[in-house]
Amino acid sequence: MSLISLKTPLSTIKGIGPKFLDKLEKINIKTAGDLLWHFPVRYDDWSHLTDIKDLRPGEYAVIRARVGKIGFRKSWVQKLAIVEAILEDESGSVRTIWFGQPFIKRVLSEGKQAFFSGKVLAGKKGIFLSNPAYETVSDEENINGLFPKRELLAIYPETKGLTSKGIRFLINKVLPDLEKVPDFIPEEILRKNDFPEINRALRDVHIPKSSAEANAAKERFAFEELFLLQLGNLLEKKRLAKTKAPSIEFNLDFVKWALDKLPYGLTFSQKRSLYEVLKDIERHQPMNRLLQGDVGSGKTVIALIAAMETAESGYQAVFMAPTEILANQHYQTFKKLFSDFGHPIGLMTAKSKLAFYGDNLESEMKKKDLFQEVENGRIKILIGTHALIAKSSGENRIRFNNLGLIVVDEQHRFGVRQRAELVKNQARKSPGLTPHFLSMSATPIPRTLAITIFGDLDLSTIDELPQGRKPIITKVVDPLNRDKAYAFIRGEIRKGRQAFVVCPRIESEEDTDYEYSEPVKKDARKSGWSETKTVKKEYERLSKKVFPDLKVAMIHGKMKAEEKQKTMEDFKTRRSDILVSTSVIEVGVDIPNATIMMIEGAERFGLAQLYQFRGRVGRGEHQSFCFLFTESLNETTHQRLKALLEAKNGFELAEKDLEIRGPGALLGAEQTGLPDTTMRALRNPAMIKLGRQSAEQIIAKDPTLRSYPALKDRLEKFKENIHLE
Ligand code: ADP
Ligand code: MG
Repeated sequence: MSLISLKTPLSTIKGIGPKFLDKLEKINIKTAGDLLWHFPVRYDDWSHLTDIKDLRPGEYAVIRARVGKIGFRKSWVQKLAIVEAILEDESGSVRTIWFGQPFIKRVLSEGKQAFFSGKVLAGKKGIFLSNPAYETVSDEENINGLFPKRELLAIYPETKGLTSKGIRFLINKVLPDLEKVPDFIPEEILRKNDFPEINRALRDVHIPKSSAEANAAKERFAFEELFLLQLGNLLEKKRLAKTKAPSIEFNLDFVKWALDKLPYGLTFSQKRSLYEVLKDIERHQPMNRLLQGDVGSGKTVIALIAAMETAESGYQAVFMAPTEILANQHYQTFKKLFSDFGHPIGLMTAKSKLAFYGDNLESEMKKKDLFQEVENGRIKILIGTHALIAKSSGENRIRFNNLGLIVVDEQHRFGVRQRAELVKNQARKSPGLTPHFLSMSATPIPRTLAITIFGDLDLSTIDELPQGRKPIITKVVDPLNRDKAYAFIRGEIRKGRQAFVVCPRIESEEDTDYEYSEPVKKDARKSGWSETKTVKKEYERLSKKVFPDLKVAMIHGKMKAEEKQKTMEDFKTRRSDILVSTSVIEVGVDIPNATIMMIEGAERFGLAQLYQFRGRVGRGEHQSFCFLFTESLNETTHQRLKALLEAKNGFELAEKDLEIRGPGALLGAEQTGLPDTTMRALRNPAMIKLGRQSAEQIIAKDPTLRSYPALKDRLEKFKENIHLE
């Protein structure tokens, strides 16, 4: 029998059926290596069972029980599928609840024997097991004593139909026949830190004999990823530092002119950030900077001034927003503030392609013509959505004449690849020049995290809001107080204010992360439909039943661009009182008269996201309010919502979110592609530091990695799998 290598496709290994392969493929596991790098989330000691009567809230426990009554229902507002069952052993009985996994009703019927492992929580009706993992025990297994066989059993992140039991089965098919894997972590680093060598670590992480073994292996893999992440970042930074960028002259007179046009003075943080940006783009090396600042802290104007300076220096700037609404808003802001800026600027969105030529001369032009004007360099600043580059290929490809600056708003995941894409498009008049890059984000990321994840970026931070903003009064509203809240809101609207309502996305059963009992969005497009459905329903409810006397409007992802635009315009000009929306207008929308933010299903959003929503109000002179409607209140939810009530700014909140839910919640684990282990390792500052030091050590010795071929290989693969920024 031939040995298995990391690259061996699982489909060629005997005994792994097509059903398994399909499921594995869905979570991107195709080769033996993919499988072996799919790590357990924890280990259960199945030989130590807890009696039901001894279950204590807050602990993880494994019980062996018989399924008693089992039922299925849907929560009343969110329509979240809930399976509830009573589990019984000799000592007593306990309730268990699974959220968003209706299929469990089919797997576990009354009378079935199984092991259940999960966290014990205290609810209003007493303690319960929350989303436990389970393994049914067949009579045969029972008799043969096959179960449980070993002390520690690896528990893997589960997706529908792919149980930990199944993954353990696969691991047992692969590991024994695995050929010796070369270790890509340089030996000096392994030795210095006492990390187990790769072959040992792989075995110990999946089939540990003791927790000490398992932990040492997990440490190694956690280190591995932080090391690779930072190594990649440092190398990228080094590479970028070698390329040339156009120098954008720091033109003080011009900056003064621009600042003069503003109806307000910049805050200290804004001034500092502006200075950092302008100083940076003056250099001949490309800027690679992340501008962080709370919602409403005034990032836009910094980018606009930098873009204008770029134009003044004879180069072009492109300004990309995440949505058309925002692109349009930036364009309008520009027009309003700098109407006598001497250079043509353009707006390109799906339907409207406008170019603005100063002195309020605006001409609508065809896409082709606008492209032409960009290509011949007449249009100096182009504003649009990320689609400007994401979708442009072939004839639709946008070509710049001499691009000097790329600004990306509210999208810190916009990465190296896209930048390379843009660079490819320019470089006609100024061959070989890399444009400067400014990324702006209102999702505050704690510093330690930021420098690890975005280690190739420099950071500018706006950590204060413009003067005169009143703190937003924030309240958590339980179902009992809903009517009171509605009455209050009606009062405010009668006084002339307006309100936003944000509805959560409803996940399908596959999208439930069992560890947190919280939904994880896997694919925005897939769940788009259910999100739209929620918005329509909420719109119906509010307009017909709750506020029939008020003008309610809605906006969601399925609407056409012009429709959305018009709905926003209507809301801006107060032709509607209440705007029900999905999270599409999550970021950046600026409507000072809207002073109320109602968030439905608040427990279903991350703190950073809630913070963003709330940031849409509190921009004008009137007192603003944020109501967090929630019906499910477990411990974590409570803690999180309380954090939102107490946090002074987004950074503080981000630290809290990191503490409570981990980096995945902050960064969107499902989007970054970062493995679980990394996510956990990111909570460990000492490990982060070790990873960085080790990366620096290797680069100091051999920046080409030529003497570390295995490492170089692994880094390539690692970079392929993650997409950060
Ligand atoms: P964000 O950082 O969320 O992108 P914006 O740039 O959209 O924030 O700014 C939010 C609002 O604050 C805008 O209406 C803008 O005109 C205003 N603003 C920006 N800077 C200041 C300032 N220094 N003083 C007063 N208002 C400001
Ligand atoms: Mg903004």
